[in-house]
Amino acid sequence: VKIILVTGGVISGVGKGIVSSSIGVLMKANGYRVTAIKIDPYLNVDAGTFSPWEHGEVFVLDDGGEVDLDLGNYERFLNVCLTSDNNITTGKIYDRVIRAERAGKYLGKTVQVVPHVTGAIKKWIEDVAARPVDNTGLRPHVCIVELGGAVGDIELMAFMHALADLTRPETRHRFMHVHVSMLIDLESTGETKTKPVQHSVQTAAKHGLLPDLIVCRSDRPITDAVKTKIADACRVRLGQVIGVHNVSNIYRVPLLLMNQGVLEQIEERFNLRRVEPAVALE
Ligand code: ADP
Repeated sequence: VKIILVTGGVISGVGKGIVSSSIGVLMKANGYRVTAIKIDPYLNVDAGTFSPWEHGEVFVLDDGGEVDLDLGNYERFLNVCLTSDNNITTGKIYDRVIRAERAGKYLGKTVQVVPHVTGAIKKWIEDVAARPVDNTGLRPHVCIVELGGAVGDIELMAFMHALADLTRPETRHRFMHVHVSMLIDLESTGETKTKPVQHSVQTAAKHGLLPDLIVCRSDRPITDAVKTKIADACRVRLGQVIGVHNVSNIYRVPLLLMNQGVLEQIEERFNLRRVEPAVALE
């Protein structure tokens, strides 16, 4: 199964969930089977004990799993049925590792973040990514993995380390990284500032996760001059910089991605071939 990792930077709430779901819609509309995993870096095992005042409603899955609202977005956008295993938390990973340690599974070894916790994260992702989630009962072509929080957060270190392992030569051909970042529009001068984007891309790169696509969230549509500046600063092609400005209806985001060639770039990266020509989303 191919993996599309979606990370975010500058602020949390930058729009990773919407970008993840929208990439899924684009792929699904073009005949690919899509599944999704949401990684929440908190230590809670699941969202069941959260106060709704702090986190909004808890989303309840068919298997009774109490999870983040993003899983609800995926189910609605992608018309799939997910399980509580599609939501990974630090609590779940540590629970699994500690249980294995108590059961003597590590055969006397010192149990460490690298390689044991990172190994548990990789195994969880690969296992769950391959599970059928729609009515075809077939393995998905693509799994979208959304990493909650912002790159550089201390809670994300083990996850970023584990995910960066997928850039090794054995798995590089089936791994793609989409980084969602934030442009700042200055009211006073009318300028668009790209520095926050440059910094979050650098932070991701420092942890071994160079982006294949840089999605820039902004108030207004972004100009080619701004895209060029980001492409030059982050050493990517102009086409790898994707603008997602504020829209009145989030169901327009898949169209924004489609019009900037995101589907074609994913297909090229993964060497996927569509049976039918691209479907126009309207
Ligand atoms: P994250 O997953 O990074 O926390 P979300 O995808 O949940 O962020 O988005 C945060 C909020 O911003 C949500 O209320 C979402 O509907 C809104 N949002 C995201 N992208 C856009 C967009 N392009 N235009 C308008 N609102 C958006």
